[in-house]
Amino acid sequence: MLSISEIKSLLATPQKIVITTHHKPDGDAMGSSLGLYAYLIQLGHHVKVITPTDYPYFLHWLPNNSDVIIYTEQPEHSAQLVAEAAMIFCLDFNSLTRINELGELVRVSNAYKLMIDHHLEPEDFDDYRHWSISACAAAQLVYEFIVDELGDGVRMNKDIATCLYTGLMTDSGSFRFPSATSAVYRMAADLIDLGAEHWKIHQLVYDNATENRLRFLGHCISNKLEILREFNTAIISVTKEELNQYNIATGDTEGIVNYALSINGIRLAAFIIERTDKVKLSLRSTGDFPANEICKKYFNGGGHRNAAGGFSDKNLEDTIAQFKSVLIEYKTQLLQ
Ligand code: 5GP
Ligand code: MN
Repeated sequence: MLSISEIKSLLATPQKIVITTHHKPDGDAMGSSLGLYAYLIQLGHHVKVITPTDYPYFLHWLPNNSDVIIYTEQPEHSAQLVAEAAMIFCLDFNSLTRINELGELVRVSNAYKLMIDHHLEPEDFDDYRHWSISACAAAQLVYEFIVDELGDGVRMNKDIATCLYTGLMTDSGSFRFPSATSAVYRMAADLIDLGAEHWKIHQLVYDNATENRLRFLGHCISNKLEILREFNTAIISVTKEELNQYNIATGDTEGIVNYALSINGIRLAAFIIERTDKVKLSLRSTGDFPANEICKKYFNGGGHRNAAGGFSDKNLEDTIAQFKSVLIEYKTQLLQ
């Protein structure tokens, strides 16, 4: 394991650095990555952010977004950057399976691997770890890494603050989940003092929907919502054809699961979506109900207790049937 003083001495001279984050990056993945990027370029490093896949249009306004390389669009170039890197920062994920084909490239690379993450059960591939499951976002841990670990708070600037605020805001459900502690609010206040325009960030992320997205949301709620009162569970499922019909792009399905969870008495909500190669599940729960346990045990996934995901190789209909049969095992907890 690298000590923080070894990291400081590495960062004292210009290095080739890659920052990567989980596939289908969300606000925290992109916010923490571009926040760290904005810090490292100030030190004169040669830095690249490489995402495994594309990400939602409502994150494309983030500072330095145009410098991001998407692996699926530039696989050879990405592979070369990973192979030549001296340091690879792994943000907002802790298992190499979460970065698809990039995972194997990172595993075999000679670079130092630095994990900054807040997910359960980290895989053992790293040389340094700033990790805490109680952190509300990876962005919180990036802030701590720069300010507390490296002691370099003087280099915090508006770009870093804007990116990290975006990560805190999106992963904490706009500062409303239990993970949004008073320390997170203090951090957010500091980021606002550094220039993060909280009102503008909120608008750019949440009030930036396409017409398609809103009409699709209406369709999901009116026609596709199934409520299983006997399990305090709500399910929204959508087919490939429906995604095509509404011309759904990356990001358009974000957050739809939360509408199902917002129904009075519902403890568990599932958004089940038929993708080209597999069926993807997004689960959300309230209180101490372990959505991640269901994803891990039955759907090749995992995540946080109240926000988890996974996938199935079965067809949509069979996946929904399997999900419903799993609920029987959790009935007591769901009815508590
Ligand atoms: P979402 O439902 O937004 O896709 O994912 C919610 C959370 O569940 C993510 O932040 C991530 O922690 C976790 N998650 C989603 N999909 C997967 C998956 O396929 N594998 C694992 N291990 N975690 C996932
Ligand atoms: Mn996160």
